[in-house]
Amino acid sequence: MIRGIAKGMGTTLRMLFRQKSTIEYPDKKKARSARFRGRHELRRYDNGLEMCIGCELCQVSCPAAAITVMAAENDPQNPHSPGERYAYVYEIDMLRCIFCGLCEEACPTEALHLTQEYELADYTREALIYGRDRLVNKEPSHFRVPENVYPKYDGRKAVDVL
Ligand code: SF4
Ligand code: SF4
Repeated sequence: MIRGIAKGMGTTLRMLFRQKSTIEYPDKKKARSARFRGRHELRRYDNGLEMCIGCELCQVSCPAAAITVMAAENDPQNPHSPGERYAYVYEIDMLRCIFCGLCEEACPTEALHLTQEYELADYTREALIYGRDRLVNKEPSHFRVPENVYPKYDGRKAVDVL
C-alpha cells in the first residue's frame, strides 16, 4: 500500500514540473495559425483611402448571405476610395457568418481581410451586425493605390467618413 501511495505521489511530482497544456485565458491567448479566419476588417491604402470600391462581389460570393453592400458614387473632390464608387453601406451579420473566407477570396482589391480576432461574443443580435464603423480600419495599411485605377487617382488624401 505504501508503495502504491509513493508511486502515486511520484507521478504527481513529475507532472508538477511539466509544461502545462492549459493557458490562463483570457489573460493569456493562444496563438492562432497564420490561416485562421476570424473577424473581418476593411483595409485602407497607405494614404488613408478605403480599399473597398463597393463592387459587391463579396456579397455575391457569401454562401450565408451575411454581407450587405450598397455602393455610391465618389465625390471627385472628396473621394472615400480611389475609383468611381465606394461602399456607403457595408454590413456583416456575424450570426450568419460561417467564416469560410470566400468573401476575402472574391475581393478584387484585397480590401476585405479576415483577421486573427475571435472574441466576438455579444449580448444582442443587433450588436452582432457589424457596420462600417466597426469594419473599416481607422489606420492605413502598407498597400498603395494601384496605378491603373479609373478615373485616375491624383494623389489626394482621404476624407475620413467614420
Ligand atoms: S466568411 Fe464566408 S460566411 Fe462569412 S461573410 Fe465571408 S463569405 Fe460570408
Ligand atoms: S470588400 Fe472587396 S469585394 Fe466587397 S464590395 Fe468592397 S471591394 Fe468589392
